[in-house]
Amino acid sequence: MEMNFIYILSEDDNDDAFYKGCIEKMTGKSYDLISRRLRRGGGVSQVRKYMPILLRDIRYTGHVDNTFFVIALDNDRSPAHPNHEKPPRFLKLPKKEQGKTCRFCEIERIAVNILDIRENWPIRGAIAVPVQMMESWLLLICDGVQYQNEAKLPIFAKKRSSSAQLYYGPRKPGDQLKDLCKIKKKQLNIKSDRDFCAYCAENLIPKDLQKISDSFALFKEQVDEWEPMKSADLKLSDLLTFSAL
Ligand SMILES: [Zn+2]
Repeated sequence: MEMNFIYILSEDDNDDAFYKGCIEKMTGKSYDLISRRLRRGGGVSQVRKYMPILLRDIRYTGHVDNTFFVIALDNDRSPAHPNHEKPPRFLKLPKKEQGKTCRFCEIERIAVNILDIRENWPIRGAIAVPVQMMESWLLLICDGVQYQNEAKLPIFAKKRSSSAQLYYGPRKPGDQLKDLCKIKKKQLNIKSDRDFCAYCAENLIPKDLQKISDSFALFKEQVDEWEPMKSADLKLSDLLTFSAL
């Protein structure tokens, strides 16, 4: 059986497990996670810190067959790629949140700086920035019909957070993304977050999720390019050589 390997840099171990499952669903192949022995559960700041280290490693290792990478960061109410649309009622967000910039562009810029333009990356990669968080995708996988679209989901992690309270005030915020996941987990009688992530990856139907989540569609588009690009590159260069003769 063909072996495939994948580097995943995400906000914690559960996210890694979910993204690995997603990639397996999208490509129909299985992957061994290349362990990085980086921090675990470090969140956004740790992803930012280790991203250049991972990308430099990839650059120095160069082209390796059947190896891929994913870098994932939650959108967390930043302007969403590619239109850089701001979340609804943007001015109700705390001031420090209003200054956020597109995270997809941020990751891509660093990757281009270190690896070169995407067509020249030594191994295929994909950037995942779920709007607003990975939990949004989990909810849409579990109850897509009920939630309809990522744009209709709540935008905060927890209703108890001060930013959610400020945003909805003086009304009390309703359940937010992590609150809703917790309820769903309980309904399904799933004990750990890790098992819930595995359940969601298992139940992911990529062509359905891409219709109700623009951010997932953007991720899937990149993964769909992994295979064809390889042979397309070769064919095109063969063709150019021939025409030059
Ligand atoms: Zn962008």
